Amino acid sequence: MAELKLENIYKQFGSVVAARDVNLKLPNGQFVCFLGPSGCGKTTLLRLIAGLENPSRGKILLDSKDITQTPAHKRNFGMVFQSLALFPHLSVGENVAYSLKVRHVDKAVRRKRVAELLDLVQLSGHMDRHIAQLSGGQRQRVAIARALAIEPQLFLLDEPLSALDAKLRESMQLELRELQQRLGVTTILVTHDQREAMTMSDLVVVMGPDNRVHQVDSPLEIYRKPADTFVADFIGSSNLLQGSYSGSHEIKVGEIRLVMDNMPENLTSGMPVTVSVRPEDIFVLPGIEKGDNRLHGTVSFIRDVGSSVEIYLNCNGIHIISQTTPKGRPAVQQGDNATVVLPADACVVLKS
Ligand code: ATP
Repeated sequence: MAELKLENIYKQFGSVVAARDVNLKLPNGQFVCFLGPSGCGKTTLLRLIAGLENPSRGKILLDSKDITQTPAHKRNFGMVFQSLALFPHLSVGENVAYSLKVRHVDKAVRRKRVAELLDLVQLSGHMDRHIAQLSGGQRQRVAIARALAIEPQLFLLDEPLSALDAKLRESMQLELRELQQRLGVTTILVTHDQREAMTMSDLVVVMGPDNRVHQVDSPLEIYRKPADTFVADFIGSSNLLQGSYSGSHEIKVGEIRLVMDNMPENLTSGMPVTVSVRPEDIFVLPGIEKGDNRLHGTVSFIRDVGSSVEIYLNCNGIHIISQTTPKGRPAVQQGDNATVVLPADACVVLKS
């Protein structure tokens, strides 16, 4: 168990900047996901933490101790890569025991520890099997057990589930989360899959295409209160409306007046802003109803997939998506005039 701190981490490969001014504090025992689009620097950050790369500048602290220059093999971190990197010529037991053997751990202790670990990842009885005889999920478990063998202070995972089919991936996500909670080991998972990040994490670190950290929060906070337009757009789907602050708790979007429950500080009159509203928070009413927080338009498409209904609307060039349950479906058809209601408590105002 350990607390990790990154201070002003900057990493450059030649002319490419992979991570820009990263400041992070990852609390003891938490499951943290690095989430972001391809190339945003997630893997680089994980490799810097692991000691497989050196930062161009900045510091890495583990429990207040500066480990920036500590070589990877002295950091006592367990790591699982996307490729798993299992030794194909060794048995399951030998794979799991590998790092203990390298550390000259006594044979009897090794055997006991391997048995415990295989039990932990539900592979008891597979000790003598060859890697080639295992399924994808079982190989995953071997890689996890191998990384945990040294009782790491940090458990680092780089997209380890991405090669698995969707169903197995979901069950492995829950298994991994349950295992992490049981062991209480501080864990960092790199993923570009937001559903995976939202399912597993205590804390999500959202990185953007500018290779900066945009938000660090719980999954729910990230979803409900995105820090900026990038996060609002990247996490789930959101309706983003361009407008301007018109004083008090009001935003103007063209001729439409939107009244908000919450407003960020330091807005000045006329300042351009973006209003983010989640599709499931929007109501659609048949016909035209006047009033604040209402847009008028036509229904351009309805997608009914059984478990949910999405209604697409064109409101004078502003495209809106509303999502509801089959029971909550409003009485509108494609081509109908309709009113879109954006509730004051569901609008999140972001500086543009
Ligand atoms: P992905 O989800 O595609 O794996 P990522 O968010 O993990 O992406 P990184 O692999 O960290 O992104 O890469 C960040 C940037 O740094 C990219 O532009 C990448 O091309 C560059 N980069 C990473 N490693 C190196 C390297 N060893 N040499 C040169 N450039 C690199």
